[in-house]
Amino acid sequence: MLRFLGSGSAFDAFRCDTSAYFRRGDTLFMIDCGSTAFKCALRKRIFEGAERVCVILTHLHMDHCGSLSQLVMYLLYKCGVKPVIVFPDRDVRELLRITGVGPDMYVHISGRGAELPEGVKVRYLESAHVDTINCYSLELSLPGGDEIYYSGDSGAIPDAVLEKFLDGGYKAFYQDTTGERIQGTVHLHIEDLCRLIPEDQRGRVYCIHLDPLLTEERVRRRGFNSVEI
Ligand SMILES: [Zn+2]
Ligand SMILES: [Zn+2]
Repeated sequence: MLRFLGSGSAFDAFRCDTSAYFRRGDTLFMIDCGSTAFKCALRKRIFEGAERVCVILTHLHMDHCGSLSQLVMYLLYKCGVKPVIVFPDRDVRELLRITGVGPDMYVHISGRGAELPEGVKVRYLESAHVDTINCYSLELSLPGGDEIYYSGDSGAIPDAVLEKFLDGGYKAFYQDTTGERIQGTVHLHIEDLCRLIPEDQRGRVYCIHLDPLLTEERVRRRGFNSVEI
């Protein structure tokens, strides 16, 4: 459903930062824009033919927004496209301002829900990641009724989301998954994911934001999917 520019976490030396994209009509949608995302996007030529670009952000850790400023400048100066940045809070404007991107260079859609071009809708849910900044998971609704869950960085799955998934409610479910035991709910350990998702339901789950202790092979051995880059 989604395509990916990278599937790694912040300290993974070999995988690029987790960032997704999809196209609907003339609009390119990106989910997150980490430090490596802009260059990967350029190499993959994902901006070609896009008349609108919407960047949907989950939180402001650099592996999720580190090349956003470059992306806005490129789209505006090289493509003549003023991007739409979707993020609940105003902090993103501050981040862009101190990196040389003024408010006239993009459109910011704030708040917990947004109706985007091509009938795509996004709903933000607070995620369990860190206490220092606001972090969100997303529910995307596509025309035709398909829904996608994208955890962003989160060490937990909200009860209502899990219930909806187990009832067949999401076409695809993208979950931050780690192989490292970390205190708290920063990322979700693969074995904890196994406890939450029964084997016969794992085919709709894609593990993202992997780290050096979690291989794609281990993800697949557990019955989940890894994403193609
Ligand atoms: Zn991250
Ligand atoms: Zn993070």
